[in-house]
Amino acid sequence: MADATEAGRPIALVDSHTHIDMPDFDADRAEVVARAREAGLAEMLVVGEVDENGGLERALRVAGGLGLPVTAGVHPHQAKLANEATYDLIRGLARDGRIVAIGEVGLDFHYDYSPRDTQRAVFRRQVRLARDVGLPLVVHTREADDETAALLEEEGARETGGVIHCFTGGPQLARRALALGFYISFSGIMTFPRAEGIQQVARDVSEDRLLVETDAPFLAPPPHRGKRNEPAFVVEVARKLGALRGTTLEAIGLAARRNYARLFRRPL
Ligand SMILES: [Zn+2]
Ligand SMILES: [Zn+2]
Repeated sequence: MADATEAGRPIALVDSHTHIDMPDFDADRAEVVARAREAGLAEMLVVGEVDENGGLERALRVAGGLGLPVTAGVHPHQAKLANEATYDLIRGLARDGRIVAIGEVGLDFHYDYSPRDTQRAVFRRQVRLARDVGLPLVVHTREADDETAALLEEEGARETGGVIHCFTGGPQLARRALALGFYISFSGIMTFPRAEGIQQVARDVSEDRLLVETDAPFLAPPPHRGKRNEPAFVVEVARKLGALRGTTLEAIGLAARRNYARLFRRPL
Protein backbone atom coordinates (compact mmCIF):
# COMPACT_ATOMS: atom_id res chain seq x y z
CA MET A 1 0.00 0.00 0.00
CA ALA A 2 1.02 3.60 -0.52
CA ASP A 3 2.87 5.42 2.17
CA ALA A 4 0.42 7.91 3.52
CA THR A 5 2.68 10.62 4.86
CA GLU A 6 2.21 13.05 1.99
CA ALA A 7 0.37 16.31 2.65
CA GLY A 8 -3.29 16.03 3.42
CA ARG A 9 -3.13 12.34 4.19
CA PRO A 10 -3.26 10.84 7.64
CA ILE A 11 -0.22 9.19 9.18
CA ALA A 12 0.93 5.72 8.21
CA LEU A 13 -0.52 3.08 10.47
CA VAL A 14 -0.61 -0.68 10.52
CA ASP A 15 -3.32 -3.03 11.69
CA SER A 16 -1.37 -5.87 13.26
CA HIS A 17 -4.33 -8.29 13.44
CA THR A 18 -7.33 -8.56 11.13
CA HIS A 19 -9.67 -11.23 9.82
CA ILE A 20 -10.69 -9.55 6.59
CA ASP A 21 -10.79 -12.98 4.95
CA MET A 22 -13.95 -13.78 6.93
CA PRO A 23 -17.29 -13.97 5.09
CA ASP A 24 -18.37 -10.77 6.89
CA PHE A 25 -16.33 -8.93 4.25
CA ASP A 26 -17.31 -10.91 1.18
CA ALA A 27 -19.77 -8.30 -0.06
CA ASP A 28 -17.43 -5.30 0.10
CA ARG A 29 -13.84 -6.38 0.77
CA ALA A 30 -12.38 -4.12 -1.91
CA GLU A 31 -14.13 -1.10 -0.41
CA VAL A 32 -12.94 -2.05 3.08
CA VAL A 33 -9.36 -2.20 1.87
CA ALA A 34 -9.78 1.09 -0.01
CA ARG A 35 -11.08 2.75 3.16
CA ALA A 36 -8.09 1.38 5.07
CA ARG A 37 -5.72 2.92 2.53
CA GLU A 38 -7.65 6.17 2.71
CA ALA A 39 -7.30 6.14 6.50
CA GLY A 40 -3.53 5.87 6.11
CA LEU A 41 -2.89 2.18 6.70
CA ALA A 42 0.44 1.05 5.32
CA GLU A 43 -0.37 -2.61 5.88
CA MET A 44 -2.58 -5.06 7.71
CA LEU A 45 -1.82 -8.58 8.82
CA VAL A 46 -4.37 -11.26 7.92
CA VAL A 47 -4.61 -13.94 10.60
CA GLY A 48 -5.25 -17.36 9.12
CA GLU A 49 -7.10 -19.88 11.25
CA VAL A 50 -7.49 -23.59 10.76
CA ASP A 51 -11.17 -24.46 11.06
CA GLU A 52 -13.78 -26.84 9.68
CA ASN A 53 -14.69 -24.48 6.84
CA GLY A 54 -11.34 -24.04 5.13
CA GLY A 55 -10.57 -20.85 7.04
CA LEU A 56 -6.82 -21.10 6.58
CA GLU A 57 -7.04 -21.68 2.84
CA ARG A 58 -9.45 -18.75 2.58
CA ALA A 59 -7.06 -16.46 4.49
CA LEU A 60 -4.16 -17.49 2.25
CA ARG A 61 -6.21 -16.85 -0.86
CA VAL A 62 -7.57 -13.47 0.27
CA ALA A 63 -4.24 -12.22 1.58
CA GLY A 64 -2.48 -13.42 -1.57
CA GLY A 65 -4.99 -11.63 -3.75
CA LEU A 66 -4.51 -8.39 -1.86
CA GLY A 67 -0.73 -8.66 -1.53
CA LEU A 68 -0.97 -8.75 2.27
CA PRO A 69 1.03 -10.85 4.74
CA VAL A 70 -0.72 -13.75 6.45
CA THR A 71 -0.24 -16.03 9.45
CA ALA A 72 -1.31 -19.62 10.09
CA GLY A 73 -2.26 -21.34 13.32
CA VAL A 74 -4.82 -23.23 15.32
CA HIS A 75 -6.84 -20.87 17.52
CA PRO A 76 -7.57 -22.21 21.02
CA HIS A 77 -11.27 -22.32 20.12
CA GLN A 78 -10.41 -24.81 17.35
CA ALA A 79 -7.76 -26.76 19.27
CA LYS A 80 -9.85 -29.93 19.15
CA LEU A 81 -9.43 -29.99 15.36
CA ALA A 82 -5.62 -30.10 15.37
CA ASN A 83 -3.77 -33.23 14.29
CA GLU A 84 -0.43 -34.15 12.73
CA ALA A 85 -1.62 -33.15 9.27
CA THR A 86 -2.48 -29.69 10.61
CA TYR A 87 1.01 -29.17 11.97
CA ASP A 88 2.55 -30.48 8.75
CA LEU A 89 0.46 -28.02 6.77
CA ILE A 90 1.53 -25.05 8.91
CA ARG A 91 5.17 -26.16 8.88
CA GLY A 92 5.09 -26.44 5.10
CA LEU A 93 3.66 -22.95 4.73
CA ALA A 94 6.39 -21.61 6.99
CA ARG A 95 9.16 -23.39 5.12
CA ASP A 96 7.79 -22.06 1.81
CA GLY A 97 7.88 -18.51 3.16
CA ARG A 98 4.14 -18.08 2.72
CA ILE A 99 3.40 -16.99 6.29
CA VAL A 100 5.03 -14.40 8.54
CA ALA A 101 4.01 -15.80 11.93
CA ILE A 102 2.47 -18.76 13.72
CA GLY A 103 -0.91 -17.83 15.14
CA GLU A 104 -3.17 -17.10 16.50
CA VAL A 105 -2.40 -19.71 19.14
CA GLY A 106 -2.95 -19.72 22.88
CA LEU A 107 -5.49 -20.37 25.60
CA ASP A 108 -9.05 -19.15 25.94
CA PHE A 109 -10.58 -20.12 29.26
CA HIS A 110 -13.42 -17.64 28.85
CA TYR A 111 -15.28 -19.55 26.15
CA ASP A 112 -13.72 -23.01 26.59
CA TYR A 113 -14.79 -24.05 23.09
CA SER A 114 -12.12 -26.75 23.22
CA PRO A 115 -11.21 -28.73 26.36
CA ARG A 116 -8.49 -26.98 28.35
CA ASP A 117 -6.08 -29.91 28.19
CA THR A 118 -6.43 -29.93 24.43
CA GLN A 119 -5.86 -26.18 24.29
CA ARG A 120 -2.71 -26.56 26.39
CA ALA A 121 -1.32 -29.37 24.25
CA VAL A 122 -2.04 -27.64 20.95
CA PHE A 123 -0.61 -24.33 22.15
CA ARG A 124 2.56 -26.04 23.40
CA ARG A 125 2.96 -27.91 20.16
CA GLN A 126 2.67 -24.72 18.11
CA VAL A 127 5.18 -22.82 20.23
CA ARG A 128 7.61 -25.65 19.46
CA LEU A 129 6.67 -25.47 15.81
CA ALA A 130 7.37 -21.73 15.78
CA ARG A 131 10.82 -22.39 17.22
CA ASP A 132 11.44 -25.09 14.61
CA VAL A 133 10.63 -22.81 11.71
CA GLY A 134 11.96 -19.60 13.23
CA LEU A 135 8.79 -17.52 13.08
CA PRO A 136 7.26 -15.25 15.74
CA LEU A 137 4.04 -16.14 17.58
CA VAL A 138 0.69 -14.36 17.56
CA VAL A 139 -0.75 -15.27 20.95
CA HIS A 140 -4.42 -15.14 21.93
CA THR A 141 -5.04 -15.44 25.66
CA ARG A 142 -8.21 -14.87 27.63
CA GLU A 143 -8.62 -15.51 31.35
CA ALA A 144 -5.47 -17.61 31.27
CA ASP A 145 -2.71 -15.13 32.09
CA ASP A 146 -0.59 -17.31 34.35
CA GLU A 147 -0.72 -20.45 32.26
CA THR A 148 -0.04 -18.58 29.05
CA ALA A 149 3.02 -16.87 30.48
CA ALA A 150 4.29 -20.07 32.09
CA LEU A 151 3.92 -22.09 28.91
CA LEU A 152 5.72 -19.46 26.83
CA GLU A 153 8.52 -19.38 29.39
CA GLU A 154 8.82 -23.18 29.58
CA GLU A 155 8.86 -23.61 25.82
CA GLY A 156 11.52 -21.01 25.18
CA ALA A 157 9.32 -18.56 23.32
CA ARG A 158 11.98 -15.93 23.94
CA GLU A 159 13.67 -17.48 20.94
CA THR A 160 10.76 -16.81 18.58
CA GLY A 161 9.36 -13.61 20.04
CA GLY A 162 5.83 -12.62 19.25
CA VAL A 163 2.88 -10.57 20.33
CA ILE A 164 0.13 -10.89 22.88
CA HIS A 165 -2.69 -9.80 20.61
CA CYS A 166 -5.81 -7.96 21.74
CA PHE A 167 -4.33 -7.56 25.19
CA THR A 168 -6.90 -8.06 27.96
CA GLY A 169 -4.58 -9.41 30.64
CA GLY A 170 -3.19 -7.98 33.82
CA PRO A 171 0.12 -6.29 34.60
CA GLN A 172 1.83 -9.59 35.46
CA LEU A 173 1.13 -11.05 32.02
CA ALA A 174 2.42 -7.87 30.43
CA ARG A 175 5.56 -7.95 32.53
CA ARG A 176 6.29 -11.62 31.78
CA ALA A 177 5.55 -11.25 28.06
CA LEU A 178 7.80 -8.20 27.79
CA ALA A 179 10.54 -10.11 29.63
CA LEU A 180 10.34 -12.72 26.85
CA GLY A 181 10.84 -9.99 24.27
CA PHE A 182 7.18 -10.01 23.23
CA TYR A 183 5.12 -7.08 22.02
CA ILE A 184 1.73 -6.05 23.40
CA SER A 185 -1.01 -5.27 20.90
CA PHE A 186 -3.94 -3.08 21.90
CA SER A 187 -7.38 -3.28 20.33
CA GLY A 188 -10.71 -1.51 20.67
CA ILE A 189 -11.20 -3.25 24.02
CA MET A 190 -8.77 -0.73 25.50
CA THR A 191 -11.22 2.04 24.65
CA PHE A 192 -14.21 0.42 26.38
CA PRO A 193 -15.50 1.51 29.79
CA ARG A 194 -14.09 -0.57 32.68
CA ALA A 195 -10.84 -1.17 30.80
CA GLU A 196 -8.77 0.64 33.43
CA GLY A 197 -6.42 -2.31 33.94
CA ILE A 198 -5.66 -2.56 30.24
CA GLN A 199 -5.28 1.21 30.03
CA GLN A 200 -2.69 1.12 32.80
CA VAL A 201 -0.65 -1.43 30.85
CA ALA A 202 -1.12 0.75 27.75
CA ARG A 203 0.40 3.71 29.62
CA ASP A 204 3.32 1.69 30.99
CA VAL A 205 4.51 -0.41 28.05
CA SER A 206 7.62 1.01 26.45
CA GLU A 207 7.23 2.62 23.05
CA ASP A 208 9.35 0.02 21.28
CA ARG A 209 6.98 -2.81 22.31
CA LEU A 210 3.50 -1.59 21.50
CA LEU A 211 1.29 -2.53 18.57
CA VAL A 212 -2.25 -1.62 17.52
CA GLU A 213 -4.88 -3.77 15.90
CA THR A 214 -8.58 -4.02 15.14
CA ASP A 215 -9.21 -7.79 15.28
CA ALA A 216 -11.84 -6.91 12.65
CA PRO A 217 -14.66 -7.84 12.21
CA PHE A 218 -14.83 -8.10 16.00
CA LEU A 219 -14.59 -5.42 18.71
CA ALA A 220 -15.29 -2.15 16.92
CA PRO A 221 -14.02 0.81 18.96
CA PRO A 222 -16.13 3.92 19.64
CA PRO A 223 -17.61 5.70 17.74
CA HIS A 224 -18.21 2.57 15.67
CA ARG A 225 -19.09 0.28 18.56
CA GLY A 226 -21.79 -2.26 17.77
CA LYS A 227 -21.01 -2.18 14.05
CA ARG A 228 -18.76 -4.47 12.08
CA ASN A 229 -15.17 -3.52 12.79
CA GLU A 230 -12.77 -2.87 9.91
CA PRO A 231 -9.07 -2.09 9.57
CA ALA A 232 -9.58 1.67 9.02
CA PHE A 233 -10.83 1.90 12.61
CA VAL A 234 -7.35 1.15 13.93
CA VAL A 235 -6.96 4.93 13.81
CA GLU A 236 -9.33 5.13 16.79
CA VAL A 237 -7.26 2.61 18.72
CA ALA A 238 -4.06 4.54 18.04
CA ARG A 239 -5.76 7.81 18.95
CA LYS A 240 -6.87 6.41 22.30
CA LEU A 241 -3.43 4.95 22.97
CA GLY A 242 -1.89 8.33 22.19
CA ALA A 243 -4.29 10.08 24.56
CA LEU A 244 -3.53 7.62 27.36
CA ARG A 245 0.22 8.05 26.90
CA GLY A 246 0.13 11.82 26.50
CA THR A 247 1.44 11.68 22.97
CA THR A 248 0.08 12.05 19.47
CA LEU A 249 -1.66 9.72 17.10
CA GLU A 250 1.28 10.30 14.73
CA ALA A 251 3.86 9.21 17.31
CA ILE A 252 1.90 6.05 18.13
CA GLY A 253 1.45 5.28 14.45
CA LEU A 254 5.15 5.62 13.76
CA ALA A 255 6.19 3.52 16.78
CA ALA A 256 3.64 0.80 16.05
CA ARG A 257 4.66 0.61 12.42
CA ARG A 258 8.33 0.28 13.29
CA ASN A 259 7.57 -2.40 15.86
CA TYR A 260 5.38 -4.29 13.41
CA ALA A 261 8.08 -4.19 10.74
CA ARG A 262 10.68 -5.48 13.22
CA LEU A 263 8.53 -8.26 14.63
CA PHE A 264 7.12 -9.60 11.36
CA ARG A 265 10.19 -8.70 9.26
CA ARG A 266 8.17 -6.53 6.94
CA PRO A 267 9.83 -3.96 4.65
CA LEU A 268 7.97 -0.90 5.93
ZN1 LIG B 1 -7.71 -13.63 19.24
ZN1 LIG C 1 -8.07 -12.75 15.89
